[in-house]
Amino acid sequence: MELTFECPGCRAVNNVRGVESSPAVKCRSCAREHALRGSAWNAEGIVACPWCATEDLYLQKDFPQGLGLFIVLVGFGISTVFWYYENPVPAYLVLLASALIDLVLYYRVPDVTICYRCLCQFRGPGSNPLGRFHPFDLAVGERYRQERIRIEQLRQQQTSANPPV
Ligand SMILES: [Zn+2]
Ligand SMILES: [Zn+2]
Repeated sequence: MELTFECPGCRAVNNVRGVESSPAVKCRSCAREHALRGSAWNAEGIVACPWCATEDLYLQKDFPQGLGLFIVLVGFGISTVFWYYENPVPAYLVLLASALIDLVLYYRVPDVTICYRCLCQFRGPGSNPLGRFHPFDLAVGERYRQERIRIEQLRQQQTSANPPV
């Protein structure tokens, strides 16, 4: 399985393959180490985030967000040209084709599993064992977003209470 994480030290994005067997990962750019929890895996795959230990992870299609929208917009753009020349059949066909391309992409593209809390990403076999994880849940996402905001506020309060010298 491949783990993608953003280094908390230097914000560099790292990809590490075969993380099941590593007790820790190291940032390529600043060499900062982060321990991974062995209890996050079982024989089938991950059951929790090995980075931050939460069991809340969600699934997302692994293609650039916006690509699907781009295809639909291009289809729409081309079809308006046919509309302009009062040629409705090809206009409909173009719309239908772009919708089909979107659908095929949706089913062909694999899923990526993402941690709600630390936003680590997991790809490859074992990243969604036995269909354990589900698409993004707004309520759960909001809970973790609030948590991030609170942590950020605490951090700011601390730095304003003890300004760095
Ligand atoms: Zn780093
Ligand atoms: Zn996590």
